[in-house]
Amino acid sequence: MPENAAGGVLHIDLDALASNWRTLRDNAGGAETAAVVKANAYGIGIEKAVPALARAGCRTFFVAHLSEAIRVRAVAPDATIYVLNGLFAGTCPTYAEFDLCPVLGSFEEIEEWAGFCRAEGQKRKAAIHVDTGMNRLGLTVPQGLTLKDRAELKDFETSLLMSHFVSAEESDNLLNRQQIEAFQAVRATLPGIAASLANSSGIFLKEKPHFDLARPGYALYGGNPTPDRDNPTKPVVGLEARIVQLRWVEADHSVGYNGRWLALEKRRIATLSVGYADGYPRAASARGKSGDELLSGMALVAGRTCPFAGNVSMDLITIDVTDVPENQVQRGDTVTLIGGDLTVDEVGRRAGTIGYEILTNLGSRYARTYRGGQG
Ligand SMILES: *Cc1c(COP(=O)(O)O)cnc(C)c1O
Repeated sequence: MPENAAGGVLHIDLDALASNWRTLRDNAGGAETAAVVKANAYGIGIEKAVPALARAGCRTFFVAHLSEAIRVRAVAPDATIYVLNGLFAGTCPTYAEFDLCPVLGSFEEIEEWAGFCRAEGQKRKAAIHVDTGMNRLGLTVPQGLTLKDRAELKDFETSLLMSHFVSAEESDNLLNRQQIEAFQAVRATLPGIAASLANSSGIFLKEKPHFDLARPGYALYGGNPTPDRDNPTKPVVGLEARIVQLRWVEADHSVGYNGRWLALEKRRIATLSVGYADGYPRAASARGKSGDELLSGMALVAGRTCPFAGNVSMDLITIDVTDVPENQVQRGDTVTLIGGDLTVDEVGRRAGTIGYEILTNLGSRYARTYRGGQG
């Protein structure tokens, strides 16, 4: 798609992605460093992200769904690929066909995988997930402690024992240590099996719970894994939106649906060709009056931050550009919605959500440009 046919342009820097993977690896205390590429590689595109990461040296990938794993396999013929969301009944033949590894999270799943491997006469790889606090997926810790006695473990290769942090981005949350200890207790009963606990933030915890394999996602894509400190990663995603129209709005007139933003004096409004149908959250709407300090979305226009004005529409966002010199903002110009100080974390915060949701909602209507990724 030509850039000027789209309302917004996503710029994706695959060299920054590869560089972030190396930064995470260098902080993972010698553990193998995998890449979590679920949700279309957090919105940036599996087919671009996976080859770039593989060229950087990544050998192991995690996705949420079997359908995503098949897409990864198509671009990473030699990689080890784990499917986090567990083994759906009847899917073992598909795992075998594409040489994929399920993450088994219950005795039912373990029995199904073991039965399939027995029938095939082949010990295929799978991970086992033990829940140490999330109460979402995985065996309980008491169940995990009985794993060593289960006959089914002889029928397949347990290539990984894993668990997942509840709040690793909160470096002094007491739960981190409790989860590490519970995980170590289960691990001690299964000697010789590789172990994995750390997501992006887990890599940077002072307890260094790196074990044998780290599983970062968010930080690969430029999110800050250490919210109380500077971001050790580089931005990967930039978003620019085109100005369709500029207008002066008179005092006491409102902007946008339901008239939720009021100009107290004459204001200059720019209308951008991006909206919530592009994945920009409507929760970033600016409801109030001109000049109010609102927690709302922002755009960078000619180097200045300009606040949103009114509700985010399906296909349009209105911003207040009164403070930008008139000749520096014209019809057809592009403004930055993600980039510079408007990091994915900051955009998420301004929409009352997290940067993860900003990335994974990046829409399909944008033109996309990719740079780098050749190694
Ligand atoms: C998504 C996910 C990850 C990656 O987490 P980030 O916080 O994005 O680094 C790791 N492990 C599991 C089980 C996940 O679901």
